[in-house]
Amino acid sequence: MRLQGKVALISGGARGIGAAHARLFAKEGAEVVIGDLLDEGNMVAAEIQQAGGKARFVRLDVSNEDDWRRAIAEAVGPGRLNVLVNNAGISGSQWGDSLTPEAWDAIMEVNVTGVFLGTRAAVGEMLKAGGGSIINISSQMGIVGSGATHPAYNASKGAVRSLTKAVAMQYARQGIRCNSVHPGPIDTPMADAIYHDPKKLEWVHSMVPLGRRGNPEEVAAGSLYLASDESSYVTGAELVIDGGWVAQ
Ligand code: NAP
Repeated sequence: MRLQGKVALISGGARGIGAAHARLFAKEGAEVVIGDLLDEGNMVAAEIQQAGGKARFVRLDVSNEDDWRRAIAEAVGPGRLNVLVNNAGISGSQWGDSLTPEAWDAIMEVNVTGVFLGTRAAVGEMLKAGGGSIINISSQMGIVGSGATHPAYNASKGAVRSLTKAVAMQYARQGIRCNSVHPGPIDTPMADAIYHDPKKLEWVHSMVPLGRRGNPEEVAAGSLYLASDESSYVTGAELVIDGGWVAQ
């Protein structure tokens, strides 16, 4: 098993891409801690336990520093923290509606400050463990622009991309690796409103050279490599999992 003996904390792990990470990482031997605002995280943890894996749920608002302290303490327990997946994120209202400062702040608080606070809270424990792997879920929208997303979403995911490289540089000599993952359109509750509208769906598919949406498991598979020791020489990198969106 590729993550045997590792402890992994996954923010936003109650559903969508985060839940796929929790299931796959547990299947590969990791002890998983699911942090989310949604109590559905309990159900994902129970499902993993029933399948023979190790998982716990902790309530976590990524924009709250105290929540992070609690979540990291829960993950570490008597052991140590090896992997952090900063996955929780919000997209804001899409398709060109209001650009209010409130909407800007709300997106930045979760998508950028949340990643900063999570990293800050995890690094100390990872240093004690002799290193670790931080995986930041950005987006293809952190690399290219789009008239169809809230600009704060693009800006936030671009910030996650460069924050990842800064963290990678600052902690490389101490054994902490930090990489970003850039999913394209993935079938999750976040994007439901788009995928249920035939016109928007047609546009999305037209933007993807592979001609379809991805599924959460296809993203988790990339993160599995970054979480495992197989990627021991990879830091500051961008793993794009977008069906070819940014390559055209
Ligand atoms: P999702 O289905 O909405 O799941 C995100 C999870 O994060 C939800 O359980 C959500 O809970 C939780 N969350 C939101 N704000 C939080 C907070 N402040 N603290 C803790 N948890 C919070 O979204 P997803 O599609 O799986 O997205 C996961 C990540 O992938 C996000 O960073 C997203 O930007 C990125 N991504 C997604 C796509 C896509 O097409 N789906 C593409 C590129 C990148 P609530 O429901 O309570 O908010």
